Amino acid sequence: TQVEDFQVTNEPVLEYLKGSAERKTLETALNKYKNDCQDIPIVVGNEEIRKGDVKYQVMPFDHSKKIAKYYWANADVVQKAINTSIEARKDWEAQPISEKIKVFMKAADLVSGKYRMELNAATMLGQGKTIVQAEIDAAAELADFYRFNAYFAKELMKYQPLSPTPSVSVNTFRHRGIEGFVASISPFNFTAIGGNLASAPTIMGNVVIWKPSDTALLANYITFKLMREAGFPPGVINFVPADGPVFGNTICSSPHLAGVNFTGSVATFQHLWKQIAENLESYHNFPRLVGECGGKNYHFVHPSAHVQSVVNGTIRSAFEFGGQKCSACSRMFVPESLWDQIREGLLETRKQLKLDSPLEYDTFLSAVIDEKAFNRIKGYIDYAKMSSNLEVIGGGNCDNSKGYYIEPAIIVAKDPKDRIMQEEIFGPVLTVYVYSDKQLEEALTLASDTAPFGLTGAIFASDEKFIAQATEFLKMSAGNFYINDKSTGSVVGQQPFGGGRVSGTNDKAGGPHCLLRWTSPQVIKETF
Ligand code: GLU
Repeated sequence: TQVEDFQVTNEPVLEYLKGSAERKTLETALNKYKNDCQDIPIVVGNEEIRKGDVKYQVMPFDHSKKIAKYYWANADVVQKAINTSIEARKDWEAQPISEKIKVFMKAADLVSGKYRMELNAATMLGQGKTIVQAEIDAAAELADFYRFNAYFAKELMKYQPLSPTPSVSVNTFRHRGIEGFVASISPFNFTAIGGNLASAPTIMGNVVIWKPSDTALLANYITFKLMREAGFPPGVINFVPADGPVFGNTICSSPHLAGVNFTGSVATFQHLWKQIAENLESYHNFPRLVGECGGKNYHFVHPSAHVQSVVNGTIRSAFEFGGQKCSACSRMFVPESLWDQIREGLLETRKQLKLDSPLEYDTFLSAVIDEKAFNRIKGYIDYAKMSSNLEVIGGGNCDNSKGYYIEPAIIVAKDPKDRIMQEEIFGPVLTVYVYSDKQLEEALTLASDTAPFGLTGAIFASDEKFIAQATEFLKMSAGNFYINDKSTGSVVGQQPFGGGRVSGTNDKAGGPHCLLRWTSPQVIKETF
């Protein structure tokens, strides 16, 4: 079947200038959600379910304020979602791609229009993002995911294998959704990732049980609702908040598990993989495992680098949204010859960053997501304060009396293999290692091989020869590699995102390749 051709472009990012119409509508949405605790059901098929452990989502920057009440699905409810999705699968899978594309494009339009401010407000209040960070995530990136996945799916449908000439037979190739259901498990840090993990498999004809993050519930629920409004039929995507192990055990023990679409920690992804291995003989299909699991990303500075762009890029990559991006820079390698200037630049700029409520328009970063994150990050800062190998040169004060506030911290490591240079902290903590200009290659080796991750990395240099060499030398160390730009801020359709090593299966969200994980194609040879 022919699919009509179309092009897509990235959703423009709004600025919310003082007095602007968009600022006014955002304020209305903020007022609606800030002063009221939303009651968020589990949704299975058409049914709203309000039973199971009752939980609350609070504002990270003022944890006395509840913004959502929700319910943890027990194993029976998760099982019910599995059954319901499988019921819904047949009709959805049979829909022509043009129908699925329509639904995705409608969802994108609802994000960019009707629900934009609600999504932004919920992301600001629930996840502590500033409007700048919310807008690039919950508005622009989310809309982009729907539009570009529709576009990529359309492109994939064009492929047909060769048929012999003169023709005695014709070969045709068609995509099929995988039998069973896909479990999508999403993180708090990007509202867009939740929407993408929940929807991407469906464009290829699959059905999904979506376990959103407890700390992104409100924004994810708005996303879910708008998908239903866009025309995703009941049961094709089911909204199932749940305790991690209860959810994991139930999906992994179902013979109908078709795949896991995951973003989160290395440990959880490994655990799921092992659980699936244990049940391997019981599955109808080998489950597809797609995971994005974090990073320990580097900025590598060459002596020929432009100091101001290093400072600006590093401050943004390490501290925007409190460093709670898988792509955030947390290790920096600086040559001795530039260290004094860069040190001064980092400390000076750090002092100007406003750490406050995300509702203030000049706030640069706000509180980290929850108590657990606060304790983990504080633990690293306390460890740095106590270690003789590490020096905290700026910031690092922690205060959780009202919100989970952590000042951006800059730490210098004497030992480039210190655990703080290897472990993902997922907070506003930048560790710097100063290398001798004469030991450039040793320093590149440290950047490439010290941490077990391979997500993002950046080099800063004006020396073309070095750029070419380092790009090859560091080839396997980052799935998203930046030359003279920070390690964060990938854009759908422009820099498909993901990395290897323990950072994940590197299927590149925001590009066409990840969709290939969600198809079980069929070739038909018809002979005349
Ligand atoms: N795509 C985002 C970026 O490039 C990061 C996504 C994540 O944190 O998982 O900054």
